[in-house]
Amino acid sequence: MFYIIAFILGSIWGSFANVCIHRMPIGESIAVKRSYCPKCREKISWFNNIPLFSFLILGGKCRSCKSKIDKNYFIVELISVLSFIFVYHFFGFTITSLLLAILSIFFIIIFFIDLKHFIIPNTLTFPLMIIGFVKSFDPNLNTSLFPNYLNSLIGGVLGYLIIWLIILFYKKIRNKEGMGLGDAKLLSAIGFWFGWISIPFVIFLSSVLALLVVTPSLINKSKEMSSQIPFGPYLVLGSVLYLLLLEKIFRLLI
Ligand SMILES: [Zn+2]
Repeated sequence: MFYIIAFILGSIWGSFANVCIHRMPIGESIAVKRSYCPKCREKISWFNNIPLFSFLILGGKCRSCKSKIDKNYFIVELISVLSFIFVYHFFGFTITSLLLAILSIFFIIIFFIDLKHFIIPNTLTFPLMIIGFVKSFDPNLNTSLFPNYLNSLIGGVLGYLIIWLIILFYKKIRNKEGMGLGDAKLLSAIGFWFGWISIPFVIFLSSVLALLVVTPSLINKSKEMSSQIPFGPYLVLGSVLYLLLLEKIFRLLI
């Protein structure tokens, strides 16, 4: 029963994530206005706007102009549903699950916006930092996952400082910006959420992931060493990987 609720909530928040992903970077309001087709701007009626199902029934095409709808809409909803079900499966009906569900929606929005636009809006990172810090005052939360408020604060500051320093050095050496402050704020938010211990692991895992993805295109010469890559998506993936490995990492350390 709760899996069905997780599915429904995941798909609703997934379609909200889609609205954010497409409207936030162009400064459009995420509230009030009804969904519309990006091509013909025809408003989409509610029965053609059911998450996941409408995309499949309509074959990924707009009902009125038949133009293809970006498959990312479907992917975003699918990832949201899967993460809600995953979170419920492991943490049940708890505050921890609620927090992780909120985090996953933020992560999904940040991932897709940074991937396409090379920006991470402050309207996403600032609330994420605040939630991450405020929740650390609740002593009843899962302590193997979430840090206390001091650990959280150190994590937040450390996360920001490390990327800020990388940007500074990179500027000195190559007179160019390798990463943006958006990345610094995102890593800071991750530090607030999971404490200072998460920072080195997340940096390591996201760098490895970024290298795995970028190296083939460097070898094919389809990209140059100096070309820009958005680092936010890798920070998101690195954090998810860290959380999945968390238990194993601690077992190795202790
Ligand atoms: Zn259309």
